[in-house]
This record gives sequence, structure tokens and C-alpha cells, in this order.
Amino acid sequence: MTAVQDPQTSSSNIAGFLARIADELPPACVMAQADQTRAFECDGLTLYREIPPVVLLPESETQVVAIVNACREFGIPIVPRGAGTGLSGGATPHPHGVVVGMTRFNRILRIDPEACTAVVQPGVRNLAISEAVAPCGLYYAPDPSSQIACSIGGNVAENAGGVHCLKYGLTVHNVLRVRVVTIEGEIVELGGEAPDSPGLNLLHVFIGSEGMLGLATEVTLRLIPRPQLARVVMASFPSIELAAQGVARIIADGVIPAGLELMDKRSIHMVEPFVHAGYDMDAAAILLCESDGTPEEVVEEIERVEALLHDVGATRLQTSSSEAERLKFWAGRKNAFPAAGRISPDYYCMDGTVPRRRLAEVLRAITGMEKQFGLRCANVFHAGDGNLHPMILFDGNLADEVDRAQAFGAAILELCIEAGGTITGEHGVGIEKIEQMCIQFSRAELDAFAAVKRAFDPCGLLNPLKVIPTLARCAEYGKLHVHRGDVPFPEIPRF
Ligand SMILES: Cc1cc2nc3c(=O)[nH]c(=O)nc-3n(C[C@H](O)[C@H](O)[C@H](O)COP(=O)(O)OP(=O)(O)OC[C@H]3O[C@@H](n4cnc5c(N)ncnc54)[C@H](O)[C@@H]3O)c2cc1C
Repeated sequence: MTAVQDPQTSSSNIAGFLARIADELPPACVMAQADQTRAFECDGLTLYREIPPVVLLPESETQVVAIVNACREFGIPIVPRGAGTGLSGGATPHPHGVVVGMTRFNRILRIDPEACTAVVQPGVRNLAISEAVAPCGLYYAPDPSSQIACSIGGNVAENAGGVHCLKYGLTVHNVLRVRVVTIEGEIVELGGEAPDSPGLNLLHVFIGSEGMLGLATEVTLRLIPRPQLARVVMASFPSIELAAQGVARIIADGVIPAGLELMDKRSIHMVEPFVHAGYDMDAAAILLCESDGTPEEVVEEIERVEALLHDVGATRLQTSSSEAERLKFWAGRKNAFPAAGRISPDYYCMDGTVPRRRLAEVLRAITGMEKQFGLRCANVFHAGDGNLHPMILFDGNLADEVDRAQAFGAAILELCIEAGGTITGEHGVGIEKIEQMCIQFSRAELDAFAAVKRAFDPCGLLNPLKVIPTLARCAEYGKLHVHRGDVPFPEIPRF
């Protein structure tokens, strides 16, 4: 397995750090034995592992401030961690740093049904919020497939998305305020309870910053009323092209569905024997399109969607007739990741976004790459957003397959860029996509990112080695991207 490269800090600092922190944190919050810290060696991107020398599980904001101050004093890198479900290695430990796990920040502090807001600690699970506010007729819209486990702090750091984000927006559109401990040990509040705040919009700089700008300790969320009704249309297609055309037609017709997801044949065959969702095993692709709102709105929208999909060439159309059936249709989609475990020892889930009009051609190209890399790939994804999640199936016990899976993943990301898209949809860059950052962005753009990072974290201790590649790294990758209009650039400081 690949380890994180380029340690920046001497391991001897750790001993001094531990002695210093002992006054601030009770022993139950400190883990420094490998048998304890091994559990934190990776996040959902298990290809990259590093046993952290120290894991800290603070219980209060005062303790977080104490940790940050001690890390600054000893020059120790800090890797914030939520539930560890990230798929891009954002929470992968630094070899000489501390992992600061925020799972004990697990309280919902306030629910305001009139303002439709909730104030929560960052370790609260995404789904727990919707469950807690359900009696008020409200829910929290961004719903990653990992919502049963992932934390709101991780969602904020990754700007997480989900099935409902096409209509209701990503995390960035549903967070009003974040309270942050900075690397200086100060507590700042970004955003506010009001819909807009004066000054520069630092809230939106922080959301999606992957633990590189500060530690979130409190989050105010926007809640929305639960729709009176939701129904889902399941459409089978004889080809991926027709399914992609279905996506385009729905959007072009002015319908913004509550969810619009596509599964290819391999995904259908992977999921159906596991979940028994009633998927059409003869289909080359299945489209799931959800409508929500008042009963009248839903009936009208469903009729439109059915007509459009029929027109495009759907071979089978089935609309959920009860809430239980709607959940059954979604259960297949939501369980695609666990289902992969039934047919392959490992999977590597990629995350790239392409313009919707290029969906079919990109999916065909990915299928073509299966032969090139000698590995299978299943596609199940947020079609309405053009956000692909190719799942490369491999056996991690075979070094050669690991290498091929990584090369296949890199090729998919480069394909997304070529198609006019991006290397991230919702999983972030972390360490996984750091090399493709060299292709996606010019040096001047990367320098601008580094300058923002330095403004928040001048000593470069917050989640170092993630997201922003150094000039040397881009040169090593052989992808020194020079955009038109680029001027010669200086090497950025390493952090
Ligand atoms: C089966 C499966 C399905 C998934 N489906 C989706 C999906 O549909 N949509 C989607 O967007 N993602 C999805 N993901 C990815 C993942 O769940 C999200 O990225 C999620 O937001 C990570 O949350 P976490 O609490 O696990 O964070 P972690 O993995 O622990 O950390 C993620 C990043 O957040 C930082 N961080 C965590 N907490 C804090 C904090 N308090 N302050 C500052 N930085 C912090 C970390 O440093 C790291 O960079 C999926 C993952 C899995 C395993």
C-alpha cells in the first residue's frame, strides 16, 4: 500500500508535544500507541495508509484550542478527522502529525423550527440531523450515500453532495454559519444566522477547504420543509446513450427533479441480487428520477417525466406507488458501494464531473478503458449533476491490480478534464487527486490557492500535503500545466 510521502516534521517533536498536551487533555482523549491509533490509519480511501503517531479526541472547544496551540508550539501537523468516510484521503494521517478526531462533538445544540435552522456540533452524523428535526416536519437536504455514518464537519470540509443536491444544493448552499478554531488558536465565526453577511464571503472559502484552513467546532444548518409527497420513476434503457439523452431531455424541459441518478448494466447486476429492488436485469442502463412537492405538483411532474422518457426510448417505466416502494427503488442505488463487495475484494470509487451533454461519450470511453487496464468498472452516479462515480473493481492483495486501479482512476480523471469537466464532484481532492490538480489548474491558479491557504495557515500545519500540489510534484508527474497568459512562477513554499 502507498504511504504518504514527504514528512515535514521531526518525530522527536511528538514526545515534547505529548508532555505538553497532558496538562490540557485527560488521558482518555489521547492515544499514542500504534495498536490504538491503527484504527485511524486511513479513511474510505484505503489504498493510502499511515499509522498516526498520535490521535486526539477532544471533547470541548477549549481542548481544541489547546491542541492547536501545542501543535503550533512544536510544529506538529494537524489532520482533522470526522467519521473517516472520505474517499479522497482527506483524513489520511501525516506520518509525523496528530489526527484530531471530532467524533465526540456529537450534540445537536439547537433546533429552531420557525427559522428552519439547526445548530450542531461537527461530529453529528448527517442522517441524525434529519431524524432529529423530522417531528418538526423538516429535514436537512444534502444526503451523501454515506449519510448514515459521515459527519457534518466532514460534509462541510468536503462540500458534500448527494441525491437531493440537484434540486436543493450542495452543503455550501445549506450551511449558514461555521464556528472555527484557527491555527492561531482563535475562535472565529464565518457567516451568520441571517441569509447574507457583510464583508468577504469567507464562509464559502471555508466550505470545501478539506481541513486545510481550520477546525470546525459548530455549524448552523438550513433546514427545509419535508415535501408532502415524493415519487420516483424508474426507467430502463437499451443503451447508455439513450439513458443520457433521457437526462438531457428532462433538464432541457425545465424539470429539476429531486434526484436524477443513473446506473449502468454492471451496477444493476451487482446490486439487484443483493437488494432485490426490482431492477430490470435486461436493461443496459436504469434512470431513477424523483419528483417531490405537493401531490398535485408531483403528479404533474411525474406525467411529464414519463412522457419524456418514453419519447427518448425507455423500454420499461415504473413509478413508485407507495413510500415503501420509493425507498426500495432507492435502496439499490444507495447500496451500490456495499454491493460491490460481493463481486470484488476491493473497489476504488472515482469522482469526476462532466458536462451533461458528454455523459454518454465519457461512459463509453470508460468502458473502453476496462480492456486497457484489465479491470472491471461499474458506474452508478448523480446523472443530473454530471457527477460520475466509476467504481473500479480490483483485488488489493495483488500489487499489480492496485497499480492498474490507480492508473485507471487517473486516466478517468484526465478524461473528465478533457471532456470539459472537473476532477471533483463531491469527494474532494485530498491526496487522491493531487496530481490531477496539476492538469486541471495552471500554476498561477495553484499559487492563488496556496496564497489563500497561507493567509489562514501561515505555518502550513493544517492538513499538509493535501489538495495543492507543489511545483516539484507537478514536474515529477510530468504534467506541468502552462495556461495561456501564464507568467513565470515562483516555487510555492511547501506545507
Ligand atoms: C459508501 C460511501 C458513499 C459515499 N457517498 C457520498 C456521496 O453521495 N456524496 C458525497 O459528497 N460524499 C460521499 N462519500 C464520501 C464521504 O462520505 C464524504 O466526503 C463525507 O463528507 C466525509 O465526512 P466524514 O465525516 O467521514 O469526514 P472525514 O472522512 O473524516 O474527513 C473528510 C475531510 O474533512 C476534514 N474534516 C473533518 N472534520 C472536520 C472538522 N471538524 N473541521 C475541519 N475539517 C474537518 C478532514 O480533514 C478531511 O479532509 C461517500 C463515502 C462512502 C464510504
